[in-house]
Amino acid sequence: MRVTVISLLGWTVASRADGLTIDYETAQLAAQDVGDFSDIAPAATDNGTTAIGRQSGPACRAFPGSADWPLNADWKRLNASLGGALLKPLPQASVCYQGPAFDAAECTSVVNNQVLSTAIFENPLMYTSTWPTGATCPVATNPTGTCTQGGLPLYVVNATSVRQIQIAVNFARNRNLRLVVKNTGHDFVGRSTGAGALSIWTHHLKGFEVLPNFSMGDYSGAAAHVGSGLMGYEVHEAMIQHNIALVAPSFGTVGTYGGYMAGGGHSSLGSLYGLASDQALSLNVVTAGGEFTTASPTVNSDLFYALRGGGGSTYGIVTSAVVKTYPPVSIGGLDIAFSSLDVGMEVFWKAVSVFFSFGGVIVDAGGKEGNYMSPLGTGNATFFNFTSTLEFPGIGPQAVTDLLKPLELAFQAVGINITFGQPTITQWSGVNFGAGLALKDVMFASRLIPRDVWDDPAKFAPAIAAMRKIAEAGYQLHGSTVSPSLRVAGYPGSDSGVNPAWRKAVMHCVVYDFAPHGVGVPPGDNLAARARLSQYTDLLRNVTPGSGAYINEADILEPNWQQSFFGDNYAKLVSIKDKWDPWGLFWAPNTPGSERLAVRVADKLPTQNGKLCKPCVKQVKQKRFTTS
Ligand SMILES: Cc1cc2nc3c(=O)[nH]c(=O)nc-3n(C[C@H](O)[C@H](O)[C@H](O)COP(=O)(O)OP(=O)(O)OC[C@H]3O[C@@H](n4cnc5c(N)ncnc54)[C@H](O)[C@@H]3O)c2cc1C
Repeated sequence: MRVTVISLLGWTVASRADGLTIDYETAQLAAQDVGDFSDIAPAATDNGTTAIGRQSGPACRAFPGSADWPLNADWKRLNASLGGALLKPLPQASVCYQGPAFDAAECTSVVNNQVLSTAIFENPLMYTSTWPTGATCPVATNPTGTCTQGGLPLYVVNATSVRQIQIAVNFARNRNLRLVVKNTGHDFVGRSTGAGALSIWTHHLKGFEVLPNFSMGDYSGAAAHVGSGLMGYEVHEAMIQHNIALVAPSFGTVGTYGGYMAGGGHSSLGSLYGLASDQALSLNVVTAGGEFTTASPTVNSDLFYALRGGGGSTYGIVTSAVVKTYPPVSIGGLDIAFSSLDVGMEVFWKAVSVFFSFGGVIVDAGGKEGNYMSPLGTGNATFFNFTSTLEFPGIGPQAVTDLLKPLELAFQAVGINITFGQPTITQWSGVNFGAGLALKDVMFASRLIPRDVWDDPAKFAPAIAAMRKIAEAGYQLHGSTVSPSLRVAGYPGSDSGVNPAWRKAVMHCVVYDFAPHGVGVPPGDNLAARARLSQYTDLLRNVTPGSGAYINEADILEPNWQQSFFGDNYAKLVSIKDKWDPWGLFWAPNTPGSERLAVRVADKLPTQNGKLCKPCVKQVKQKRFTTS
């Protein structure tokens, strides 16, 4: 069922499907706000036939200097409609470069704060990964190069109301602008940035209300109404304040109800309660047509399906969510570490096999585990460290000890002299790290390892051999043992657009390449490093046929990304995208329907530093490397 729309002075406004709104959602666009400023009027029709997303539309989105770029007077008028919320920020490091913005004291502050994740989410133009912007204004005390806007947006709407979001969406659609949505800017591959774009910054959409008795479809129980700008640490603070538990990232500055939920969202509670996208019961959304509406299992259910795991910035802008809550959870935890320096290489790999073959036991107990297999030294590695942090929600110390006893004995049987310590107990609400932590560009690829690979000896041995080859080539492997199966996803989570590969997975395995690939690295070297990483990740892909990768933590150059990130859901997601966004207004790399447009870059790198146009450039064939 689609929400009823009522015609008002020639354009339409959505009637709300339910009464749940957060303060900033009560201010909605009305006919008198539009007046004769047709640029901010909602879509009159929903066929989108002349838009860029369609064959007959313009070749490119408007870009500074193009004939269809809005005049200064248009931007001024837009700003007035927004109540002054339109920003035209320069790159943060512009104060370090000679020119009108130069400010030595400010530059010192930027240099000192560049390592803080807090500086990233508080700034409309800062991103965790700088390479997707083209890194055209690097932070430096005495830079010798130039500072340009590069792949950063040109204008930003600092949104504090739904009305402002509707105005910005309408302006972007009516003026053929590139539109991006930034929450915290933590997306690893640049889905929240874009050259010449108008950005809607959702970071200030805060709110948290406990709903002790909430009913939606077949769900009846505890819930909370949350603002889409809440970050991980704010959700953990709310857990403490209200003595409840929610699914949220452990890393404090990740946006919980923006990209994290839109892509899936794994956490320490993943094997117990499923993904973040499984928690949603109802979502408030501004659509590409400028409507403010609700999506839930009973209203606009197709949109609800897509917004949960089908990719961020594709179907609409989520302004708030009603999500499941749980009684407070304590986590029994244990750290394990061993090194090939101590036990020798062959025992090390036997122990790794022992550990991973225990993965099914961990997730069957509702547990989650995060491990790192780190090469020591540079180049092709000859020694490795293995560390693991095991977490068992709702399980006490003695039960954790009993559960892990067979693992301890199995380690000893293969020659690791290890005795597990006393498990710790932590309140999930108090888990919160990373705010203020140094963040930097990293390059990585990933793969979801299905449970049958761990459980079937004929598949298990080749998988471990693949990991060994990858590690020996100098890459770090980071595994998250977690199983958000259909069973734990429950209702309504089990019917969503999230990658079906998650439902069979026992581990999300990331392959990190710490070789520099940002500022100063020649594009050819960068592309060669990316090709080598992908070639080694193929070893994992080959032993996990039919599986996929987690869109939020994956390679921007993931082969066959449609299948890999969305599996059999892809065609359905594209049809939902086309229904709700026939203009192709929302665009982010590797999201459903995004192959219809491409960023025209000068250097062949997969950045957002160029015009967004219909594709015309032939794909560059990557150089292949031998992995044996
Ligand atoms: C340090 C760090 C730790 C991480 N830890 C985890 C983890 O434990 N588990 C996990 O699953 N992932 C983790 N991630 C990955 C994380 O899920 C993604 O980076 C995610 O995209 C972040 O979402 P965001 O809204 O914070 O970021 P943004 O970059 O602001 O947004 C990401 C995407 O979502 C879109 N978007 C944002 N808000 C909205 C909205 N309101 N409506 C529609 N679209 C929106 C953006 O346009 C963009 O496409 C981590 C990332 C980092 C950098």
